[in-house]
Amino acid sequence: MAAASRLEGMQTAQDLIICEHCDSVYRRRTLARGDVADCVVCGAVLERHQWIGVEGQFALVVTSAIVFLIANLSPIVTLGLSGMSSATTLWGAVIAMWRDGAQLVAFLTAMTLFFFPLSQIAIFGWVLWFARSGRRAPGFARAMWALVSIKPWSMIEVFMLGTLVAVVKAHTYFDVVPGAGIWAFGVLTLLITVFSSLDSRELWTVTREDPA
Ligand SMILES: [Zn+2]
Repeated sequence: MAAASRLEGMQTAQDLIICEHCDSVYRRRTLARGDVADCVVCGAVLERHQWIGVEGQFALVVTSAIVFLIANLSPIVTLGLSGMSSATTLWGAVIAMWRDGAQLVAFLTAMTLFFFPLSQIAIFGWVLWFARSGRRAPGFARAMWALVSIKPWSMIEVFMLGTLVAVVKAHTYFDVVPGAGIWAFGVLTLLITVFSSLDSRELWTVTREDPA
């Protein structure tokens, strides 16, 4: 545990860290592996040491993008009924649910399994692409805000469980064979969990505004 030192004298904005809870201002300190900087006033966490660098985070996002593509293009389940079988992708399932009168479930599934992960991957990738060379992406502040707001909505794990339950239930009517897409979504869940655990606030420190 390393408490950040309180502010003394003039500092540049990048060297400062403000407690999100009580607005105390601190001078930023380089954290070693496993270090956590706490606010001495209210005890809130100011910053954690990042175990994976910007290059590593970027590689993680690129991998997620590829897995996302596979997950969306591969069949998630194959349904068999009296000798006939049909494979369905995520979008096939969403459309089927919509037509079946389950519009809310269809909408939520599309949001949590498609739009939220896609925006998380796209925005994080955009910010990191520039951060690799120490620059701030155009729209940096808005992108950072969006990342924080999307986080609690990317409930991909919850819907993975829902999908599994649906597959098991459908098993009573059809022969259900989980497709490659389900496994890809499983891997994607892990990847998104990992990069959602990263402290994206660190990007404020490692990047500088373009001198334009
Ligand atoms: Zn505080």
